[in-house]
Amino acid sequence: MIRRTLMRRAYNAGNYSRARHHALKIVHIPGEQRLARSVIIRSHWNQQEYEEVVLLLQKWKDSDMRFYLQKSIDELFSQKGKGQKINISLEGFQSERYSGLQGSQPVPNFERQWNGQNVIGNFFQENQRIWFRFPQSHCYWDMPEDFKLEHVHTSLLELVAELLLSPWYKETKHQLQPQRKKGLNPSLSFSGGTDSTAASLLLPDDTFHGYHERSFESQLKHDNAKKLINHMANVQDKQIFSIPSNHEIIRTYHDKNIGFSTDLACASHLILLADHFDIGAIAFGMPLDNTWLWKGRVFRQFENTDYFQYWRKRFSHAGLDLLLPIAGISEAGAMKICQQSELMPFLNSCMRGEADEGCGECWKCFHKNGPLGRPYNFKSNEIQMFLNRKPIPTAMHALWAIDTMGLKNQAPLAVQELMLNDFSWWEKVYPPSKEIIPSQWREHVWERISTYLEMMEAPYPLELVNLYNERLE
Ligand SMILES: [Zn+2]
Repeated sequence: MIRRTLMRRAYNAGNYSRARHHALKIVHIPGEQRLARSVIIRSHWNQQEYEEVVLLLQKWKDSDMRFYLQKSIDELFSQKGKGQKINISLEGFQSERYSGLQGSQPVPNFERQWNGQNVIGNFFQENQRIWFRFPQSHCYWDMPEDFKLEHVHTSLLELVAELLLSPWYKETKHQLQPQRKKGLNPSLSFSGGTDSTAASLLLPDDTFHGYHERSFESQLKHDNAKKLINHMANVQDKQIFSIPSNHEIIRTYHDKNIGFSTDLACASHLILLADHFDIGAIAFGMPLDNTWLWKGRVFRQFENTDYFQYWRKRFSHAGLDLLLPIAGISEAGAMKICQQSELMPFLNSCMRGEADEGCGECWKCFHKNGPLGRPYNFKSNEIQMFLNRKPIPTAMHALWAIDTMGLKNQAPLAVQELMLNDFSWWEKVYPPSKEIIPSQWREHVWERISTYLEMMEAPYPLELVNLYNERLE
């Protein structure tokens, strides 16, 4: 009886390891078993020890706690989707995390079967909705009036299918359709964030902007982006289309979080619209942190990477220039560009804040809002947790932010050791990036860049960046 009291007391005080210690002493006693097991499971759950929950409930086959079993399985699938190592086998389990979302998606009036032989046969139109059949289900885009799928070049459809499915279905990488003739107009895959807004400011004024509007409810809020889009459309007279789509659900059928199947899949709406608007280039707001740096922390020759070489050719086959106007500009540089424009009040990278305000507690508020002079709480759990990670996430940018905000002496020692040099070059442009801008747009983009930012001076400190002495394959 005393054990039971101690166990309850420890559990209620949030001392879960202690509660479990007591529970394990009485779990073999028939009259105590039910409560003790419940304490053991719930204490592991509260400590986010999902593997233990699964192992124990598999052994006990306790139907009372099925809830914790499925929730833990969902959590483990989510961690696995983020690339974290899972030490137990998930074979035979299924994530039910997204079954509600998947089940609530619209379906076409006339469903189709997946056609693996002829991927472009999986696209079809019902009114203004373009459907795409993928092996598990359908997804869609709601296109502008007078859009006709039959006028879309087959190489564009083939490219969309590849961007959406190639991580799981290698057959979608086959390039069978004839080449499309290059269109006339530039376009930008526009997210409403700092990077894509900076890209927008560097592109010709008549650039066609396509905003991918996630068509289902999620943590992601469109409010800020919508205000920005309204301003750009109504005050600045930009051509902006919001295209509602749910193609981000495809990943959830592969134990991944909601999101783009591949990073360039964020432009699938623009690729589908390419013939409708005579598009000849698609721009992405991909900053230096992801181009000449690998994971924001190791320098690489981006122009020679398989990634860049492959996709440039692949887009070119569909009559599209792959245009990366901020490839030589860091996130810090992109912020500097936006700060010089009237669009700054519409930009806030925080996904959790209300209205125009950031939450002040998240990593984005720290490294994206903080350097702009917006409030953040340096002591927040999330910010401290990220600062203490090794490698530190969004590495170079985070170091620059810490330096800019004068927080170097308050940072963890492992971070201070990375901050021996001056970071002012991080706000400047890496000149060799000019070469990867397709010739038709190069001079315009470069001239605009020069009005906003200074050039890095050779020898470029960027080329020495390798924060943790890693070797790239
Ligand atoms: Zn925040």
